[in-house]
Amino acid sequence: MRLDNLSHAILFSAEEGSGALPQALSLAKYILCTGTKDAGTACGMCAACRKTAHYVHPDFHFVVPVNRSAAVPGSRAPVTDDFLNLWREALLEKEQLTEQDWYKKIDIENKQGAIGVAESANLLGKLQYKPFEGGSRVILIWLPERMHPAAANKLLKILEEPSPGTYFLLVSHRPDQLLPTIRSRCMHVQVPPGKQAPPPEEAYTQLERLLDLCLAGKPAGIIDWAEDMAALGREEQKNFTNNALQILRQYYMVYLEVPSLAGADTARQAKIQRYADRMSGTFFTNIYNRLNTTAERLERNVNAKILFCSLAFDFFLSLQR
Ligand SMILES: [Zn+2]
Repeated sequence: MRLDNLSHAILFSAEEGSGALPQALSLAKYILCTGTKDAGTACGMCAACRKTAHYVHPDFHFVVPVNRSAAVPGSRAPVTDDFLNLWREALLEKEQLTEQDWYKKIDIENKQGAIGVAESANLLGKLQYKPFEGGSRVILIWLPERMHPAAANKLLKILEEPSPGTYFLLVSHRPDQLLPTIRSRCMHVQVPPGKQAPPPEEAYTQLERLLDLCLAGKPAGIIDWAEDMAALGREEQKNFTNNALQILRQYYMVYLEVPSLAGADTARQAKIQRYADRMSGTFFTNIYNRLNTTAERLERNVNAKILFCSLAFDFFLSLQR
């Protein structure tokens, strides 16, 4: 994996019960693996992999919502570490854990969990030390939307000054509820629901046509592309932006050299690789944001020709080296 290119903070978002948590877990295992990694999968054999498999790697930290519970008595504010054994057990039982599964596991009955200030203080304390095993370090924050604003502000300070080799993986079901300042510091990966169909062939064709024009440096053709897109019906335009986001996620996973997370079939993989080789970290950040704003503006009936022209030129500019 190109760890050098990997954003130090990645926000995985998806509906509850989807593959967001399993994806973040497998990326974490991949980052921490010190063996021979093959095609985007951790080796599964090295000492690090043996520890991550049981979630006992000392440089793999977790921050999850908790609350006072009969399972962990005490008067101070509870933190994830108080529930670490239960958390490991829960993950080993079921990677696609839901929030309710977790609250049941930690026996907080009808209370909701939260990520409080004590938690950020605890995390800050851990980050003052170098990684135990001298390599990378991963902090997985599950359901950051449950963070108290004061805790979120502390986290923000950490995200603003990332230390090398430290990766934050956030897994959220409600990314719209996160502080915009946190969201903007993360590379955003939208994980499609488990049963979602792969993007249709037509979406690949439309997107690849644009990419080919950009990579060949042909701005005139880009305007034709935008005009063709503007001539489509509004629903087809919305489908395009949604599918393009899904395809972009595949490029990003291949770019990070974790093609197993791209979820594309083998025939598609080689083609994705060719495009991903021409893309950069900045390209992904820009285009994710631009596709999302284009989708929002299509909902508000903004002039499609202007939208697609400006989207196409952003592709063009973001792909120039
Ligand atoms: Zn390994």
